Amino acid sequence: MEKRFIYADNAATTPVSEEVLAAMLPHFRTAYGNPSSIYKLGRDAQRDIETAREKVAKALGAEPAEIFFTSCGSESDNWALKGTAERLAKKGKKHIITSVFEHHAILHTCEYLEKQGYEVTYVPVSDKGIVDPEDIRKAIREDTALVSIMYANNEIGTIQPIEEIAAICHEKGVLFHTDAVQAVGHVEIDVKKQGIDMLSLSGHKIHAQKGIGVLYVKKGIVLPNLIHGGGQERAKRAGTENVPAIVGLGVAIEAATRNIAEKAAVITPRRNRLIDGLLTIPYTRLNGDRDRRLPGNLNISFEGIEGESLLLMLDMNGICASSGSACTSGSLDPSHVLLSIGLKHEVAHGSLRLSIEEDVSDEDIDYILETVPKVVERLRAMSPVWEKMMKGEKYE
Ligand SMILES: *Cc1c(COP(=O)(O)O)cnc(C)c1O
Repeated sequence: MEKRFIYADNAATTPVSEEVLAAMLPHFRTAYGNPSSIYKLGRDAQRDIETAREKVAKALGAEPAEIFFTSCGSESDNWALKGTAERLAKKGKKHIITSVFEHHAILHTCEYLEKQGYEVTYVPVSDKGIVDPEDIRKAIREDTALVSIMYANNEIGTIQPIEEIAAICHEKGVLFHTDAVQAVGHVEIDVKKQGIDMLSLSGHKIHAQKGIGVLYVKKGIVLPNLIHGGGQERAKRAGTENVPAIVGLGVAIEAATRNIAEKAAVITPRRNRLIDGLLTIPYTRLNGDRDRRLPGNLNISFEGIEGESLLLMLDMNGICASSGSACTSGSLDPSHVLLSIGLKHEVAHGSLRLSIEEDVSDEDIDYILETVPKVVERLRAMSPVWEKMMKGEKYE
């Protein structure tokens, strides 16, 4: 097959869509007013921000007054955790519950809070990559302030039992936050129906630009101000608004949530074809539950090879993908997500994540299914680990 270019790393970031870009452009050159200004140019910008806020609210089943624009998903996660911790510490609640396989925006914030004297319980996940709501119930204490569990995992795509967890939290009078950065636009979300108190999302994962995010905060929950200054974002997060990015995010989330079921109907069979095809390679395994996962995500480990070499060789073949291993994170440790579901270090090192959307065609899937086995075979042929494995020797 002729070489192709295939972007299969949408969980890392997505391109800005044509319609998002078109909506943003006037806000750089003609509709550039400061939303706080009194004249029409400013008032128009203010109106466009509020329109975007309505679109975000509608997409989540929230009220516009519950939507705060931030600079990214990480900022939203930080604000939800640190803000709640600070607020509830005053009431003697200094315990937080999260899971072992959260995004670092959550885990590193929790580590910071531990250094500040908070206690954090990290609940485990099953070998399929799912949090057991009963583990949350058991972990909740008198002094628990917050439970934060991601909606869908960014590496293995597994979807968590959000409603059950939220119900347990409310039964016990504990707030519930979810990092829904990977879920928005791929699964139906309704914060009211699902009992979500706070939710983080990010623009660049849903075809808006990088550097824009949202924190939904349920009415009645008062977080401390994140940035002190002017009155923007109801004085909670000061600083002149990033109008183009906000307007773009409004258009992006409307588009992303418009036809979730139709998109899934196109993507899921392609993803399944990839899973079935790649699992025919010997010594491979699928990471994460096969069904309870995002429509476009697959994560597969190939024993005896290194993820980075695999990614580089796929790149030479025009395929952009990701791996849960070493160099990507600048450390030698394999992904904490893959270790959390019980993978051995050496298996976690040889992992491949593909995250596809509708633009990855059936022909593209054929190309991936033709390319990956060849690349894996070549890498195994050069791998001392693989050689030892095949001889039945111990390797580490
Ligand atoms: C990408 C991602 C984030 C971070 O979002 P940014 O906007 O890049 O800061 C947080 N959580 C999850 C699950 C993500 O996938």
